[in-house]
Amino acid sequence: MTVANEPVANQPAAHEHLTTEHLASWVSRLVQIPSVNPLHAGPRAGVVGETRLAEMLAEQFRRLGADLVDTVEVFEGRPNVYGIWEGTEDRWCVLDVHTDTVTVEHCEGDPFDGRIADGRVYGRGSVDTKASMGVMLAVLEQARNDGRRPAPNLLVVGSISEEAGGLLGAIGFREWATARGLEPDEVIVAEPTMCAPIHGHKGGVSLDIVVRGLAAHSAQPHLGRNAVVAAAKLIMALDAEHHRLQALTPTTAVGNGTLTVSVINGGTGGNVVPDSCTLSVGRRIVPGEDNETVANELIELVERACPLPVEITRAYMGSPAFYQPPESPFVQQLAAWAGTRPEVAPYGTNALRYDGFAKQMVVFGPGSIDNAHTAVEYVELSELERCAAVYRRWLGLD
Ligand SMILES: [Zn+2]
Repeated sequence: MTVANEPVANQPAAHEHLTTEHLASWVSRLVQIPSVNPLHAGPRAGVVGETRLAEMLAEQFRRLGADLVDTVEVFEGRPNVYGIWEGTEDRWCVLDVHTDTVTVEHCEGDPFDGRIADGRVYGRGSVDTKASMGVMLAVLEQARNDGRRPAPNLLVVGSISEEAGGLLGAIGFREWATARGLEPDEVIVAEPTMCAPIHGHKGGVSLDIVVRGLAAHSAQPHLGRNAVVAAAKLIMALDAEHHRLQALTPTTAVGNGTLTVSVINGGTGGNVVPDSCTLSVGRRIVPGEDNETVANELIELVERACPLPVEITRAYMGSPAFYQPPESPFVQQLAAWAGTRPEVAPYGTNALRYDGFAKQMVVFGPGSIDNAHTAVEYVELSELERCAAVYRRWLGLD
């Protein structure tokens, strides 16, 4: 099936269900606006960054009857965009959709054509995660055409910098909301979850470490202090800690914490005792663990286990895990509406920046994470339909 890339112009009859073409055309239109994260940009990225997409969204929020539209620069010309539709209920619902995408350098064909074919919308961002924004815009347009508005207060957020650069958009959004005294009741963090409500995923902390030794001629190693050998002993201790974590009984479906030594560099030449060795270490955090405690204990372990002095050159104190109990009403409601079950995710999301912010929060959206970041990215039209039905019920439109 192929349809035009413009949203359907004809006014549908009141209460007529959203058409698949309408949903697909909105997702396609968003895909056609490049928004590659600047840290992922290459020669094929087109206009780099989220700005053009944020401008388009602000314009559409206004056209679709938002009571407040705000565009706020978060980082060097890269704005978050906010739209509020005031409802008749007290409840505050938030949809947070990151506007950046990953690189397009490995894509097959034109990554921004937004082609609609084979029951799918193709292109970079189609599933991760412009599908969620496209479906919401289609739902709001349909509601406007029907002369209706969402029953709860609705805030739609387009946030920058999720794919790389440290969830800056999420941090910016939280500051923006807090400054306005906004306390969300229900937050959906948009990611492709096949419309299953994701109720938990791990957080993390990480360290960059330099082991300090003393250089000497390798013919006289006793005159030096070998930083690579000391680093090897440290790595074995870190690996033992990883195995200790694996042996614990997990307290939630999110599973166990992990510890990974991911990078090592050291040595200057075949005849020199190395005077330094650098390591990067990442620790995944599970529900019930405090990130600062975990980070401090990891630093202590490093200092204790390494036979030579260490310098911690970067300590990312990170964030606690995201965890919403699966029996929470919002989790159960979304699962029932979508015909799915609550799940946990192996990846992290903007939810890591919203700890203690929303009364209830899930990660949720159409399409599969398996199709994200790939050479041929797409979202199935059937997933757009399923998500639209869920949004309509969430907003009291059905
Ligand atoms: Zn994403």
